[in-house]
Amino acid sequence: MDTGTRQEISRLLRGEVLARVPLRERTTYRIGGETRLLACPADLEDLRCLNAYLVEKSLPSFVLGGGANLLVSDRGFPGVAVHLGGFDRLSFQQEKVSAGAGLVLDKFIRTCLRRGLAGLECLSGIPGSLGGALRMNAGAFGAEISDHLVEVECLDGMGRFKVLKKDEVEFSYRRALRIRETYITGATFRFPPGCKESLFLIREDILARRRQRQPWQYPTAGSVFKRPPGHYAGKLIEDAGLKGRVLGRAQISPKHAGIVINLGGARASDVLGLIRLARKEVSMRFGIELELEQELIGFEGEEPGQATPVPDDEPADTE
Ligand SMILES: Cc1cc2nc3c(=O)[nH]c(=O)nc-3n(C[C@H](O)[C@H](O)[C@H](O)COP(=O)(O)OP(=O)(O)OC[C@H]3O[C@@H](n4cnc5c(N)ncnc54)[C@H](O)[C@@H]3O)c2cc1C
Repeated sequence: MDTGTRQEISRLLRGEVLARVPLRERTTYRIGGETRLLACPADLEDLRCLNAYLVEKSLPSFVLGGGANLLVSDRGFPGVAVHLGGFDRLSFQQEKVSAGAGLVLDKFIRTCLRRGLAGLECLSGIPGSLGGALRMNAGAFGAEISDHLVEVECLDGMGRFKVLKKDEVEFSYRRALRIRETYITGATFRFPPGCKESLFLIREDILARRRQRQPWQYPTAGSVFKRPPGHYAGKLIEDAGLKGRVLGRAQISPKHAGIVINLGGARASDVLGLIRLARKEVSMRFGIELELEQELIGFEGEEPGQATPVPDDEPADTE
């Protein structure tokens, strides 16, 4: 990608395009090198233009939401991170709610609860964007973001805008099959009415339980692994004797073994080392293969930790 790429994309979009943005500043792990470009389409038309350009030039890209479920390579991402923060519409028609994918999930939840709409209270405190939550089918305490979903809007890689009914998406545990490879732009929900005061009591209880169980003092990206059927990843890792194990500046949390924490200055390779160790030990001892819930960015085609550095020919943007 030459230095002209940024200028070409900037000319195409009304939204912002930044060069050499450190992804450690945009991920909850606080880990990761620079993305070559960060493009923030202003609206659907912008996004269409950007997608067409990326396809035409065969440029690598990924969608960056709140960065709460990502482990980014120390060498960064040699392509374009697409951020849909500008897709932040929100409208209410009684129990029907239409929302943009760029909304901060927890703010969206609070707004719904304030209007006496039930259904999202158990997801209180999950970091990230609404788009990221839909893509991950985020969930907690027996609820999932897809529970009260009516339809999802997205743009596919061919530039086609689609509105998919909930059943068409094929949601399952931390999975949203048909929207995996799309840009999710928004969604419509229909929430049952509830008592505002009771909903906020449930929210406070959920937030307290999260604080109690999770190592909130450290940067993390939540659970590293999906829950294997019939087990808890954290319990298996603990039973394998790995709770509290340190590698470099990363640690398997002494509070919750399903979470890796950044002790300050951790590298992606430290986290990956712990991930590999946990997988190996759990597989050896219990015959269970742990599946990653977190997503790896910038490791494609390389041994993780040895990714190609981002070339130094794009002047950096300071924020
Ligand atoms: C402290 C902490 C606690 C957590 N607790 C929970 C929990 O209880 N339950 C749970 O499910 N998760 C939990 N998580 C993980 C994380 O919050 C969720 O996975 C969240 O939904 C990720 O959203 P995001 O916007 O940050 O997505 P990102 O991390 O930015 O991206 C995640 C994936 O979604 C894709 N993506 C993001 N936005 C879009 C979009 N608009 N269109 C298409 N693809 C998109 C990305 O490309 C990537 O593949 C926790 C994380 C932390 C840090």
